[in-house]
Amino acid sequence: MSFSSQVKSELAGVSGQSRCCVTAELGAFILGAGVITLHGRGQISLGFRTDSAAVLKRVLKLFNLSGAAYVRPRLMLKQRMAGHRQYHLLLSQRDSHRLLREQGMLRQDEEGTERFSAPSRVMRRNCCRRAYLRGAFLASGYIFDPRRRYHAEWVYKDHARAARLKRVLLQLGLLAGLSERRGDALVTIKGGDQVSELLKLMGAHLSVLSMENSRAEKSLRERANRAVNCDAANLGRQLSAAREQIEAIEALSRAIGLNSLPPRLSALARLRLSQPDARLTDLGEQMEPRLSKSGIQHQMRKLLCMAKELEHSAQSPAMEAPQ
Ligand SMILES: [Zn+2]
Repeated sequence: MSFSSQVKSELAGVSGQSRCCVTAELGAFILGAGVITLHGRGQISLGFRTDSAAVLKRVLKLFNLSGAAYVRPRLMLKQRMAGHRQYHLLLSQRDSHRLLREQGMLRQDEEGTERFSAPSRVMRRNCCRRAYLRGAFLASGYIFDPRRRYHAEWVYKDHARAARLKRVLLQLGLLAGLSERRGDALVTIKGGDQVSELLKLMGAHLSVLSMENSRAEKSLRERANRAVNCDAANLGRQLSAAREQIEAIEALSRAIGLNSLPPRLSALARLRLSQPDARLTDLGEQMEPRLSKSGIQHQMRKLLCMAKELEHSAQSPAMEAPQ
């Protein structure tokens, strides 16, 4: 089950809302997943379309909480491509008018005919705004797996509905983006803190926990990766330094022979050749007498300098080893 479906099934089970919140959530459902059919003479019927059984149950529950139905809603299951299911919930015309009137989504024209219109209700309470977020998410929202990215989005057929959601998000302290994708209006929320807050506001507390868990794991993993990269870089530097030392020693050996080096330098040169992978400090430990880290670095620099000088004065055959 995707993270998004997990969140939806948790939200579908949220209970104990007051009447004001039921209306708010239903309003978001109508704008996000509602299908309006016009029958002429001002008759309208309202349906809901969803591919999730949990969401379908939620709408039905909210509808029942909003008042008694005149006619039992009809349920249809449509099998779409690749076994994809879509549920349609159809309300009777009478129930549709009742519901839309309560939402302030019906407007009477001059002849007294009722027409569907943008919602005129304004939500003043935060409990209702949170319920609206929940309904909007269940109806048309999607959230990415937080292990991949922190991103939630809602798709709307028209800009006004998207703008309404963006406003509600802002009233609850979330900054959303509004854009267009293939002719649809898209509302997006980004960033770990915002997505986590969104889940909290909608009431998906288990999902908040699982998201915070994966966030903690992610940051731990990133820290471990940084440490490993740092070690690898050190090792890389160490190996390339050792390669440079060996090349210098081999050059010295070819030009003047290691035996002509002062005894300590000659001993260090042989040690390095015999242990190309060893750290310089480990070579220092094996010297007689032992050499400290700075002592061994100093001796090694001497060897490198000699090789460099040798390179520069490659023409002059007689070269004295510096002491
Ligand atoms: Zn409320």
